[in-house]
Amino acid sequence: MSEKIPYKIYLSENELPSSWYNVRADMKNKPAPLLNPTTLKPMTFEDLRPVFCDELIKQELNETDAYIPIPDEIREFYRMYRPAPLVRAYCLEKKLGTPAKIYYKFEGNNTSGSHKLNSAIAQAYYAKKQGLKGVTTETGAGQWGTALSMACSYFDLDCQVYMVKVSYEQKPFRREVMRTYGAKVTPSPSETTEVGRKILAEFPGTGGSLGCAISEAVEAATKQEGYRYVLGSVLNQVLLHQTVIGLETMTAMDKYGIKPDIIIGCAGGGSNLGGLISPFMGRKLRGEADYKFIAVEPASCPSLTRGKFVYDFCDTGHVCPLAKMYTLGSEFIPSANHAGGLRYHGMSSILSQLYDDKLMEARSVEQTAVFDAAQKFARVEGILPAPESSHAIKVAIDEALKCKETGEEKTILFGLTGTGYFDMYAYKAFNDGSMTDYIPTDKDLERGFSALPRV
Ligand SMILES: *Cc1c(COP(=O)(O)O)cnc(C)c1O
Repeated sequence: MSEKIPYKIYLSENELPSSWYNVRADMKNKPAPLLNPTTLKPMTFEDLRPVFCDELIKQELNETDAYIPIPDEIREFYRMYRPAPLVRAYCLEKKLGTPAKIYYKFEGNNTSGSHKLNSAIAQAYYAKKQGLKGVTTETGAGQWGTALSMACSYFDLDCQVYMVKVSYEQKPFRREVMRTYGAKVTPSPSETTEVGRKILAEFPGTGGSLGCAISEAVEAATKQEGYRYVLGSVLNQVLLHQTVIGLETMTAMDKYGIKPDIIIGCAGGGSNLGGLISPFMGRKLRGEADYKFIAVEPASCPSLTRGKFVYDFCDTGHVCPLAKMYTLGSEFIPSANHAGGLRYHGMSSILSQLYDDKLMEARSVEQTAVFDAAQKFARVEGILPAPESSHAIKVAIDEALKCKETGEEKTILFGLTGTGYFDMYAYKAFNDGSMTDYIPTDKDLERGFSALPRV
């Protein structure tokens, strides 16, 4: 195509996807089912009903329907902030002096500052439709809690957020955003749940962890009439909702005849990466096209690159089902100096299976290199990226610089999941030169592995 590709490729509202794409339908090796921790049998619809909303359980267990229609009410909400722009990073290319063509899909244009709202609004909708009073959840850095608070206020649902205590203390403004949307925010571990009291008794003064906040949120949901638990990553349903990212990207690229050679995303629990790559992976699985997919994770929390592919607990209190995934063990907690998010011990079962089947690669990167990439990007592209997103930027730059050496004109696509305005302490540490890297030793990892369940 001779026409110059614009800096921003916007789709019209009418080009918003009408269905989510369920990559499991095209996977030969399906992700392993969730197991009931007591019976070790696959979780059924009935087993999951006390915890999750009915419609979301159906999506969680559905591995046959490739397309699941997006209800009109959710599409209407998506229209308010989607389609998200696909940006050609001309300025970054020029700065790097690379012949590579770099594109990023920007998900930071909404109040949560991240892609999390794509799933939050869907989950709040199904909870409302079921006639529930409210939902409970956990949040680490706060993006998910923010997204869910906003979605719940839109549908008039009560929202109770258990926020990892260190984040609660370090990110007071995140907390205020959630409270502005009417959510009740409790630092975790707390005295409000049995599991929280138990953890506090065992580890007084702990700053908490995601695994611990999940246990508290699940307990709070099952003990209150009319409440269910919702999660912002890892689960199949969340990846499904996030496929709006990949579907829009694919439509935009197809329109201009662009074919990405390499698709890169950061991976915490795997939802944005899964959402971005799913439709492209579908083409690969059906033999229609080939792409190289790269998951990028922090060297300090390396679940894909150094974890084990086994059944593990999803939470510290062991109240959740067991999931087969690449994991560092539910007791693994990343070093306190790690500032960049992506700190969950496990990885989505879908992505774990694709990785194990060698359909996707993974790389781990150190945080000072991540912030260096973030700074390079911010200085030319006009967006201050979230530390999480900057993991993807780092590898996109690495790949573009390889092209500079070889002269190859590869097309690189990455997911820019959000903005980093609430992460200025981390940026400050980087700017002050006081940020350090920590890579866990094999012995550190052994401690997490020793707590794996024997299944
Ligand atoms: C939550 C979050 C992530 C990581 O979560 P995934 O489920 O792995 O996508 C990445 N970037 C941002 C900005 C986030 O808020």
